[in-house]
Amino acid sequence: MRSRDIKEYGLNIGYSKVGITSADSFTDYVAEVLSRGDKYDFFDFTSTNPLQGAIPKNIMPEAKSVIVLIYDYFQNDFPEELKKMIGKIYLARCYNPLPGMLAHSRLELMKDYLSANGCKVNSSIGIPARWAAAQAGVTTFGRNNFAYAGDTGSYIVISTIVVDMEFDYDKPTMESKCPPNCSACINACPTKAIYEPFKLNPKKCISFNNWITQDGRGSISSFIPYELREAIGGKIHGCDICQDVCPLNQKKLKAPKAVDRYIEQIAEDITLPAILNMTDDFFMNRIKPIMYNYIKDKRYFMRNAALAMGNSKNEDYVKDLEIAITNPDEMVREYVVWALGKIGGQYAERVLKSSLANESSDNVKQAINQALAQG
Ligand code: SF4
Ligand code: SF4
Repeated sequence: MRSRDIKEYGLNIGYSKVGITSADSFTDYVAEVLSRGDKYDFFDFTSTNPLQGAIPKNIMPEAKSVIVLIYDYFQNDFPEELKKMIGKIYLARCYNPLPGMLAHSRLELMKDYLSANGCKVNSSIGIPARWAAAQAGVTTFGRNNFAYAGDTGSYIVISTIVVDMEFDYDKPTMESKCPPNCSACINACPTKAIYEPFKLNPKKCISFNNWITQDGRGSISSFIPYELREAIGGKIHGCDICQDVCPLNQKKLKAPKAVDRYIEQIAEDITLPAILNMTDDFFMNRIKPIMYNYIKDKRYFMRNAALAMGNSKNEDYVKDLEIAITNPDEMVREYVVWALGKIGGQYAERVLKSSLANESSDNVKQAINQALAQG
């Protein structure tokens, strides 16, 4: 099996680019992450720590090469209402997909092909994918920290497969193709998470605050800092803002696309009230097919929906928040209270006052008093 055979097979099954690099340690990546202080200490609490994956032999001791697969996830478009709430990569159901999903099967086909041709394979997501992709010559870097694959722009999923065979390697493309004076992504970021070109404070990024903020993760918890809450706006699972403003993505954004039929079919069910007060059936049939990647527990989707409702300042949501304020989960109630305080008005105030009498949690009581003080 030659490098060329692997690339042709990858293109044949729907990947848009395939590159191959050596499985030598990505020492520059490790040095770069470590130089950024405590911004990446949460890596310790991810199931696949990229600092470990930067040494591919940690993933598979026999590792010789890393095969990098680029998938263009923006071949179909999605309803505008959903794009305001959910990152396109999730609507396309191709990020860390579950068994039974097309994207999962595509990666399995690639692994089967490599195995059938004598390779031992490992597709752990621990490999730092954007770094590996640039090493394998299939992407360049944007100042927004995303990886760009030519005309496909940054709307790509990068998958990596570690193998135990050597191949011809591609020339790295570690450079950037950003126009010299462009800073559109930095200016557009609502939380100012991109603190200088090519440098992101992940803890300020909306996406991080949507997903990584879960309890039981060392210094990370479900608490979303007050100073970031308004800037999160209506985003409940991912943020595309710094990609959508990018001149390098405009060709792809503006290219005519058919609407994804599956998402179109279920779109009207996926509303903030439905997420806030979701049933198990809704979680299984509407959340899980799209957003079951970073978050596996519906309480975090409920929290995110409450926050988005508060930021909308839409009084129509007060009746849904009134139901959710009786949620048995204290954490959810706290965000519901925050949202009612943001929306304000007489109805929200009535709900807050009447819930105070029944509230058992001191934290939530304190949040209610703060919310009432705002009005
Ligand atoms: S994804 Fe959103 S919050 Fe994160 S850096 Fe980009 S614009 Fe900022
Ligand atoms: S918006 Fe401009 S600076 Fe940012 S990634 Fe795109 S081209 Fe580069």
